[in-house]
Amino acid sequence: MLQRRPCFRVCYICGREFGSQSISIHEPQCLEKWHTENNQLPRHLRRVEPRKPEVLTDTDKLRPLPRSFTNKFQITHKLFSSMC
Ligand SMILES: [Zn+2]
Repeated sequence: MLQRRPCFRVCYICGREFGSQSISIHEPQCLEKWHTENNQLPRHLRRVEPRKPEVLTDTDKLRPLPRSFTNKFQITHKLFSSMC
């Protein structure tokens, strides 16, 4: 968690990391691909469409940090976040 690059987002469909710019392009394509693959599955194997988590995008930076984080890390985190 501490090593996560601030500018990267995880695709909620396939779980891979993408830049904050490319994820907005990737996600609709990934979802379309997911539907194509899902429709090819037998009815009893089909999955429920993945839901986009509500906590994402820029509000991510506003989440209160866990107490275990040091002040030094909080400052570093803020610096990296502002670079986005
Ligand atoms: Zn994806």
